[in-house]
This record gives sequence, structure tokens and C-alpha cells, in this order.
Amino acid sequence: MVAGIKRCVTGILVVAFGLIGIESAAAQSSDNVPPLTVLVHGGAGAMEEGRYTPEEERAFKAALVAALDAGYAVLETGGSAVEAVEAAIIILEDSPLFNAGRGAVFTRDGDNELDASIMDGATLNTGAIAGVTRVKNPVKLARAVMEKSEHVMFIGDGAEKFAKTQELEFVPRKYFKTEHRWQQFKDRLAAEKKSKQTQRAREEKYGTVGAVALDAEGNLAAATSTGGMMMKRYGRVGDVPIIGAGTYADNASCAVSSTGWGEYFIRLTVARDICAQVEYAGKDVAAAARDVIHNRLQSAGGNGGVIVLGPDGTFTMQFNSKGMFRGVKQADSSAEVAIYGDGAM
Ligand code: ASP
Repeated sequence: MVAGIKRCVTGILVVAFGLIGIESAAAQSSDNVPPLTVLVHGGAGAMEEGRYTPEEERAFKAALVAALDAGYAVLETGGSAVEAVEAAIIILEDSPLFNAGRGAVFTRDGDNELDASIMDGATLNTGAIAGVTRVKNPVKLARAVMEKSEHVMFIGDGAEKFAKTQELEFVPRKYFKTEHRWQQFKDRLAAEKKSKQTQRAREEKYGTVGAVALDAEGNLAAATSTGGMMMKRYGRVGDVPIIGAGTYADNASCAVSSTGWGEYFIRLTVARDICAQVEYAGKDVAAAARDVIHNRLQSAGGNGGVIVLGPDGTFTMQFNSKGMFRGVKQADSSAEVAIYGDGAM
């Protein structure tokens, strides 16, 4: 495991990078004010070193930095954690690089069906949507569900009807049809016909984006957005819009956004389990996330990762896949991003 040290205005933050992810050891300033913090992920999966060209790596990292900067700018100007996670996710949804919004993967029928959720750790208010096909930014719709409806989740046509009442932007379905995802879809169809379904092929189906944030009021929030798993069947809904599986935030424990093989994250209620271990067992966020990802998820046969942030600004990013697009921006330090399992930034 390689260790790095990162300085921030609130003190010295020790960050350890390794196969299992990144952990912060101490985050509070001497006056006990938790540092403004944003963490993002752009999906976990089969991204071993050498998979991407240097230009591709630069593009992924630039998008992660842009998302961190957007989220952090909100916090710095007194915005809420909810606004910050939404701002960060919009950048990643608008990028064709990630499996969310514009870069969504294709279903088995060659469609794009998008899921998203958001949660406010101060109130436990939350909103989620599943199976939308024409809303440009699913995270905005999830936030509208949270703030402008008396419900928690809308699906499909109903979700889009609600989006219309909120005057959210609609795009033609072809907006989501990016060339590289279409090619991936056709390659996968061809491989399946030859029954070449490898572990790597399964891992390549992921790519969700997520963000967690801590604002100046000490409030946490989490949000996650996805095109789901490549080749998913009609109407399949994964963990992303399932509160407690793909997303959870509670000021009493932590904020979590997940990525990976959604069915396992639902069965294990990954996000809530991490927060419950913090809340009931008194674990720190790193210990709780390690247990859920490296013991429970691993033994169940699932894979993926999480970004986790506590109300004191301690954070962790854990994954049991080859890599995870991820990054953090805390206090006045610059954004740090990584892709591979060695955690090099
Ligand atoms: N968790 C997402 C799902 O199962 C996929 C991903 O993280 O990329 O829908």
C-alpha cells in the first residue's frame, strides 16, 4: 500500500492509497469545524492499469476534477451539501465518459434507461427516479421528487410526467446514444452470441456516478446517477435509486454513494449498512466500509465500491473491483483524483 500526505487549511490530512481505496485519518481543524468536503466517483469496474491511453486517462481525470470543483464551489459560496452533490453529478451526467446521463450504457433492447437518487442527511428527506428515457439530468429530477413532491420514488412514464410539471429539460432519446457505448453494446451482443461472457465483461457493465458532500452547516448529502448495467433487461432497476442500497445520507452517521453490481448492493443494503455500522457499532467510516465491501460484498460474490463521508469530514473510498474512478476535494486543498487500484493520484 502506498501512502500519501495531503495538507489542508484545517490541518494535516493523512491519506492512504491502496488496492482497497483511500482513507482519511483525521479531518477536523483545531477549532473543531469540519472541513468542507466533496467526494465523487465515476464507477468501479475492470479498469486495470494500462487499459486507457494517457489521453483517455487525462479526460477521465479532468471530468472528475471538474465535478469536484463544481461541487466545492457550491459549498464555498455557502451552498448546501444537497446543492453540491447535485452540481457535481450534473457535470458527470453531461459528460459522455461515464455511465450516467449522456454516456449511459444500453439495455439489451438497445435503449437507455436512467436511474438516480439523492438524500439530504439533515432531514433524511430523499428522492429517487427509475427508468427514465428523456430527462437530460436525472439527478435534477430526483431532487425535484425530494423537494417538490410528497413521495420518494417515481418510475418510467410517471417520473417523466412529474418532470414536465417541474419544467425540467427533456432531450430526444438519441442524445443518450453515444458512439462508444453503442459500439460496446454491439461488441457485447456479438460476444454473447459466441457465449464469451467473462468476469471482465461483467465488470465492464458498470460505471455509475456519485457524489457525497459536507457543507458549512455540518450537513451531509449523497447522490447517485446511472444508466444501470449494460445489457440489463427491460424495466430492470438496480441499486442506484434504492435508498439504503446505492445512496444514503444521515448526519448521525455518514453519506454514501455506491457503484457496482447493483443486485448485490440491494441484497446487502450496502449504503445503509455502512451508516448503521457507524451509528450503532461506533465504527469509523473506513472500518465500516471495509467490512461491507471487503467482507460482506466480497463473500456474497458481488463487486464494486463506495465513497463514504462522515460528519467530521473523515472519508473513505473502498472497492473490491480492479479500479474505481474517484476523487476528493477538501478544505482549501486542490482536487485529488485516481482511477486504478494502486491509488496513484
Ligand atoms: N450499480 C449500478 C446498477 O447496478 C451500476 C453501476 O454502478 O455502474 O445499476
